Amino acid sequence: TAEPVTLLGLGAMGTALARAWLAAGHPLTVWNRTTSRAESLAAEGATVAATAAEAIAAKGLTVICLLDDASVRDALSEADLQGKDLVNLTTSSPAQARALAEWAQARGARFLDGGIMAVPPMIGTPHGYVFYSGSRELFDTHRAALAVPADTVYVGEDPGFAALHDVALLSAMYGMFAGVAHAFALIRKEDIRPTDLAGRLVDWLTAMASSVHQTAAQLDSGDYTEGVASNLAMQVAGSQTLLRTAEEQGISPELITPYLDLMERRLAGGHGNEDTTGVIDLLAR
Ligand code: NDP
Repeated sequence: TAEPVTLLGLGAMGTALARAWLAAGHPLTVWNRTTSRAESLAAEGATVAATAAEAIAAKGLTVICLLDDASVRDALSEADLQGKDLVNLTTSSPAQARALAEWAQARGARFLDGGIMAVPPMIGTPHGYVFYSGSRELFDTHRAALAVPADTVYVGEDPGFAALHDVALLSAMYGMFAGVAHAFALIRKEDIRPTDLAGRLVDWLTAMASSVHQTAAQLDSGDYTEGVASNLAMQVAGSQTLLRTAEEQGISPELITPYLDLMERRLAGGHGNEDTTGVIDLLAR
């Protein structure tokens, strides 16, 4: 039989998680600050708790999916956590996750942090997954229940690692969004259809994505010239064409100049024969 799950938080994500556990036959206790959001789930079979403390007192795994770290602290403040297994799916920074893990452990709970790599419509489908880090025992004990809403990817005992992986992926995504915004801006005033450029952009970005593996190999070996196809000296020279074209098209280069500036600084440091990997070293504070 499916183990009982308690869920704190019935926002867009929490509600999707709740439906996935109900659909899989898990007895579900829910709590939400605004009680009305629990009504439809009650009709679908969930037990509604009046307070977070009451919800946590129910048998089984406790999952938290609230807005932010502060709302989690609020919700847990009155609860008895002794002997509880807590999984926090609220987006947080690595340090916030580590601090919450320490706080929960000091109150007798086992703690696992999660970073959701999905949007609510993906929950309960084969798409998306959740990064987990923290108590391996908790993860192994509740693996079946955790795998119901989305695939699970355990990334280590350090409770901050799930958040760190989550943020690393999102940060790379925003870099890509920035480049795509610049690309569309370049063609905006011309007789080029955005829908035509879109397919070419997707193909190009997909082809270039595998360069991530080369960057990783170079970071591992410490040799940034390993397998280099287009060295930094050539790329910095070529970037002048990028800036000139932005100017010709009447487009601000502000989304791409931070990266181009770092390439130039690395070149000025005498690394013209390397790949762009050295830019990473310049970011370390
Ligand atoms: P919503 O804004 O839809 O819901 C926020 C939830 O937090 C509600 O249940 C709200 O309760 C509750 N809440 C806010 N402040 C407090 C507080 N001080 N005390 C108690 N409860 C509070 O957010 P989502 O459900 O979309 O997101 C939840 C978490 O999931 C976030 O950390 C988000 O980053 C993460 N996430 C969301 C994704 C998404 O695409 N939606 C994707 C990946 C992660 P109330 O109903 O009373 O306002």
